[in-house]
Amino acid sequence: MSEDLLRAPWPPQVVAALNRYQHAQVFHPYTCGGERGDGAHAAYARAYGQDMGLLQATPGGWVCPVCDYRQDWAHAWSAGDLSKMVSLPLIDGLSRPEPSACSPAELERAALLIEEAAEVIQAVAKILRFGAGSLHPGSGETGRDVLERELGDLKLAIRLAAARGDVRTGRVDRAAAAKAGRIGQFLRHNRVDDIVADPAKAR
Ligand SMILES: [Mg+2]
Ligand SMILES: [Zn+2]
Repeated sequence: MSEDLLRAPWPPQVVAALNRYQHAQVFHPYTCGGERGDGAHAAYARAYGQDMGLLQATPGGWVCPVCDYRQDWAHAWSAGDLSKMVSLPLIDGLSRPEPSACSPAELERAALLIEEAAEVIQAVAKILRFGAGSLHPGSGETGRDVLERELGDLKLAIRLAAARGDVRTGRVDRAAAAKAGRIGQFLRHNRVDDIVADPAKAR
């Protein structure tokens, strides 16, 4: 990491680039390493409409406008050309997210889906490496036990998403049936026609 750090003093173009970075909201900005959650930092952030403890780049390094916190280094990439990191429209979009894009409840359900799907992936990966019968050190569960538990968790996340209208159960079921109709010819070691009533009719 050391070779990628810019140590102060910084020339004017670096100071300008770092301050652009601070306000671009593309990545997490540099913030105060002091008590940035205290009342003074909060009041300043409210007054200027920015993150609490947002640091300002100066020729001498980072300065907290509220307390005496100073920092004399920055990652070199953060002084780079922002337009080359991400397209400008994306930067613009990220800095002003659509307030109605997702409600807190939708975000929570989406996060649950992501988390449980990832845990299913992890459980399957363990089985591929150690086998379904392998005992999990500590819990005493087998790889299969863990996969069953995580599939159950995922099922609950899917049911919640369906119950709250994020996805439509009918379409999910139709997609499953259609998949069964498409996938059969590509499976070399498995059949699906015995678990789906009539895959061909599904689509
Ligand atoms: Mg889980
Ligand atoms: Zn501070």
